[in-house]
Amino acid sequence: MDKARTEAGSTRPRVLVVGGGTAGWMTAAALGWAFAGRMADVTLVESEAIGTVGVGEATVPHIRYFNQRLGIDESEFVRETRATFKLGIEFRDWGRIGDSYIHPFGDFGHDIDGMPFHQHWLKLHRHGVAPPLEACSLPILAARADRFAPPASDPRSIRSTYSYAYQFDAGLYAAFLRRYAEARGVRRVEGKVVEVERGPAGVAAIRLDDGRRIEADLFVDCSGFRGLLIEGALAAGYEDWTDWLPCDAAWAVPCDAAPGPRAPYTRATARDAGWQWRIPLQHRVGNGYVFSTRFAEPDVARAALLANLEGDPRAEPKLLRFKAGRRRRQWADNVVAIGLSSGFLEPLESTSIHLIQLGITKLIELFPANGRADPVVRAEFDRAMSLEYERVRDFLVLHYCATERDDTPFWRYVRTMKLPDTLVDWLAAFRARGVVPSYREGMFLPASWLAVLFGQRVVPSAVHPLVEAADLKQTQASVDAVAAACARAAAAMQLHDDHLSALVTRAAA
Ligand code: FAD
Repeated sequence: MDKARTEAGSTRPRVLVVGGGTAGWMTAAALGWAFAGRMADVTLVESEAIGTVGVGEATVPHIRYFNQRLGIDESEFVRETRATFKLGIEFRDWGRIGDSYIHPFGDFGHDIDGMPFHQHWLKLHRHGVAPPLEACSLPILAARADRFAPPASDPRSIRSTYSYAYQFDAGLYAAFLRRYAEARGVRRVEGKVVEVERGPAGVAAIRLDDGRRIEADLFVDCSGFRGLLIEGALAAGYEDWTDWLPCDAAWAVPCDAAPGPRAPYTRATARDAGWQWRIPLQHRVGNGYVFSTRFAEPDVARAALLANLEGDPRAEPKLLRFKAGRRRRQWADNVVAIGLSSGFLEPLESTSIHLIQLGITKLIELFPANGRADPVVRAEFDRAMSLEYERVRDFLVLHYCATERDDTPFWRYVRTMKLPDTLVDWLAAFRARGVVPSYREGMFLPASWLAVLFGQRVVPSAVHPLVEAADLKQTQASVDAVAAACARAAAAMQLHDDHLSALVTRAAA
């Protein structure tokens, strides 16, 4: 029997998290917060010799709810992880070379006479009298001016129309969560897993390189792309989506920041065979070129990345390889896959950490009291995760297929590739009448779809008849009023750098 159980004399289920990257420590911290010492004994095993992926610096707003739920103080978190604030992502050169648009974490205007704002804007656009769509989004105006303020909670305030996320050092976040988890009773074991022992319930135990054997009732596979347990031991299978998302490699390198303010947003610049990220942190800038090896040699991609840095590189570029897709079963027998072991969709919309978070939320929601999940629980976990993976996939694919670019073989491929049926249906509805996907589950709200669709020049051929019938001057006055309110509110925000300094100083005090 496992040492922890014998020592504690406990009959609580034993949970073993395998892997100590972002996924492992987020899982351990959340399980520590929810269960450790009361309803489960939680252990994490990791190998310093193997290390972590070490990228994953940009997030979506949901991470704030994760931190808040764990009671993490924002200023301490920002200081410890050298974080900056993020209001959205700027996409450069995606629709056409020279284009730039921002996908904001927030709304475009508000419903007018019960009809969506974009329908009214579209009507003005068709008459040639619309302000730029960007002007109707407070987070975009703030981002473009390097300004930031936390949103207001009063729904009547225009400052309640957006949200925000963080850009942070992933290694520091994992270390921060490790301290948090260990303080809440999570036990950490250093060692390399060299063998996974099967048992009647799935996996019975793992064995480390020094001979130690660790048993558990429930295993959480956070071992990264390897999927040591979920694939290595249980062969859960992998659904390959590279036909839709052909990027399968990335060079990543941090560099010095160019002089000037830190941008409160991530940038994704389209390149010949993929795209390049720029993520500003407090102490450096994270960069990477995500590319398809079908369309570019790694050496060529590396040179392209180094030629497009704003400051001196701080390390040798690191090459990462991956395959877009998801694990067919995400909870198989007594093994739950969370993080890269469960699948990977390229980092274009910073969704991986969100998928980790969703996996953890579902695991806590479905946590079996005795550690043994029945088929219904496993099926519900798989359903929720599959749905989210597919929704994220379609949203990412949209960025590639909605392009007018045909200047390289890569862009010609993605422009004309066969699309997932779900996306074909949504695109048809939008092109015909401006209908935007809206669903109860799934992370991307209509404003996100609109940002990418309009940003990449996909414009519906008709507006809703009710909006069409409305008085043009009145519509114009309403839309102009939104733009004016956004401009006033953005100008009243403090600079992002000032907000950061105040927060970091407060944490240090
Ligand atoms: P890893 O970081 O690989 O951790 C695996 C852990 O398992 C390590 O601790 C390792 O030591 C351990 N391990 C493995 N084998 C063994 C063994 N045999 N014995 C013991 N321990 C073992 N996500 C975002 O949300 N935003 C982004 O901006 C973003 N950018 C990315 C860019 C790129 C190029 C890539 C590839 C990914 C990016 N991601 C991003 C995804 C993000 O990096 C991951 O979701 C996140 O780091 C979680 O990784 P992980 O913990 O699942 O795996």
